[in-house]
Amino acid sequence: MSSPQSTSLSGDVDVAVVGAGAAGIAAARRLVALGRSVLVLEALPRLGGRADTVDLAGLPFDLGCGWLHSAERNPLAALADAQGRPLDRSEGAWRRQLHDIDFPKRDQSAAWAAYERLGERLRHAPPPSDRAGDAVAPDDPWRPFLDGLSGFLNGVELDQLSIRDFLAYDDAASEANWRLPTGYGAFLADLGAALPVALDARVTSLIEGDGVTVETDRGTVHANAAIVSVSSNILARGDIRFAPALDDHLQAAARLPLGLDNKVFLALSEPDAVPPESHLLGQLDRAGTGSYYLRPFGRPVIEAFLGGRLARDLEAAGEAATYDFVRQELRELLGARFAGALTPLRVTRWGAEPTILGSYSHAEPGHADARAALATPPSARLCFAGEACSAHDYSTAHGAWQSGIAAADWIAANLPRAAP
Ligand SMILES: Cc1cc2nc3c(=O)[nH]c(=O)nc-3n(C[C@H](O)[C@H](O)[C@H](O)COP(=O)(O)OP(=O)(O)OC[C@H]3O[C@@H](n4cnc5c(N)ncnc54)[C@H](O)[C@@H]3O)c2cc1C
Repeated sequence: MSSPQSTSLSGDVDVAVVGAGAAGIAAARRLVALGRSVLVLEALPRLGGRADTVDLAGLPFDLGCGWLHSAERNPLAALADAQGRPLDRSEGAWRRQLHDIDFPKRDQSAAWAAYERLGERLRHAPPPSDRAGDAVAPDDPWRPFLDGLSGFLNGVELDQLSIRDFLAYDDAASEANWRLPTGYGAFLADLGAALPVALDARVTSLIEGDGVTVETDRGTVHANAAIVSVSSNILARGDIRFAPALDDHLQAAARLPLGLDNKVFLALSEPDAVPPESHLLGQLDRAGTGSYYLRPFGRPVIEAFLGGRLARDLEAAGEAATYDFVRQELRELLGARFAGALTPLRVTRWGAEPTILGSYSHAEPGHADARAALATPPSARLCFAGEACSAHDYSTAHGAWQSGIAAADWIAANLPRAAP
């Protein structure tokens, strides 16, 4: 149903949905189910946003989201299951270190105990600053490990993280994390495939009057209402002009910046050199290290994760420097022969992706309330959606999905049905 790039846009719809990531797709599906006409406007030439499955060495891999977190209560896991999609429910290898290389069992227990201790301290004796970094002494021997972990989980180190926001994330109800071997991005793109979508259509302004005038670089659409599901960094940069101005919402978005998590994929010419579904952490004593998922689903590939400051530095340094870094860490762990036999496949650069600008949101210290502020509709005709609006499942695809449904329900409840 996507309209080709050459067609210029015009016309009237009940609801314009800006952005075709998980939130925008969910919102549009819900509105269609409620009998409303919609048009999804997406700046990229594809659906999915931060969900993007690509073909690497003939196999589907996710450049963005890959795990159905909190799977037992994740609506997308339930939907995939109901559609008969293959689901991998096995436990991830994250907390294991293959052959305990450079990370003796004793240290592994101590490192994870330090992580549990941090959680306890944040819950029961948080520092007054609301800064997660203030809960661990700078010279704590596990500080680099904890900062590194935060880089993977939150896209930033502990000093940049609000404790209240961190504690609001709800993974207690379900620790199950499942995967879609055919790709999370492919799944979301399929969920959006039947929707009316204009791809390559960048929205430049939303002007509210009797309705909402949506200006794009491909023409102007008139809608009764609009849902804006672009990332918090895109909002904060001012890519979309709002009239009347929505300063409070844009300021809230600026307090929910996207941290950075990038992936690096490498092909293994001798896959049997490492067991399937295994894992290695690069270094224990520095935060700037990689997390290496070896042979996901048994495939002849390494999926490396780089988070936080390291991801930013390597993104700035470029692809060659990123491969060099990953190869060097793998050489130290598995030897020169192993590292020499790796073939680069793909590096992501989510921070430089011009319509996204990062990986997932965190609240700055003192600004945990910004999520609720962004999610509060500024008027009966306009509201925001997206992972940054989620109170308890922010930073995830299912949190984005749920925020899209909430936005659609709110608009449908408040918007008078257009005369036939
Ligand atoms: C490397 C990485 C790994 C991740 N891993 C996981 C994981 O395992 N599990 C998980 O649940 N989540 C994960 N996430 C997070 C998850 O991908 C996101 O939280 C989620 O996909 C965000 O969806 P969204 O709809 O809020 O935003 P987006 O996906 O960013 O969608 C917004 C859309 O708006 C478009 N847009 C921007 N500006 C405009 C404009 N002016 N006009 C029109 N369109 C515009 C963008 O192109 C984009 O398509 C990961 C993310 C990354 C980057």
